[in-house]
Amino acid sequence: MTASDDHILLRGAIALAAQAGESGNPPFGSLLAGPDGTVLAEERNTTRTDRDITAHPELKLARWAARELDAATAAETTLYTSCQPCGMCAAVIQWAGLGRVVFALSGEQLLDIRPGSGRPPVPQDGPALLEEARAAVEPYYR
Ligand SMILES: [Zn+2]
Repeated sequence: MTASDDHILLRGAIALAAQAGESGNPPFGSLLAGPDGTVLAEERNTTRTDRDITAHPELKLARWAARELDAATAAETTLYTSCQPCGMCAAVIQWAGLGRVVFALSGEQLLDIRPGSGRPPVPQDGPALLEEARAAVEPYYR
């Protein structure tokens, strides 16, 4: 894959973003390609029409890959996306074992376009009740 090939596939993700926007959803789109550039699956943001805050295209593709591809094949894929994956999607992409991400707009550039679109982190308290929690978890991993 050359930079030019990446740009062709990235333009496909941007076209999917436009389609998401035309359907009343936030304008984000992604596609997942194999090592030869073959498009394996594509998704659009559907957070509004699905009334699902997690319906980001990157997350849907990572879940698809984890379900439909073996680990070796997933590791050879590249996710092309119109905007840099958010923290939620980046974590799921990692869990799915995808090989690479190529994005158009960075998250920072998106914030410049739409200030205030980020969310503050939720405070987390812990660890707590270590022995009780450990007793519930440990048998699974032994
Ligand atoms: Zn996301």
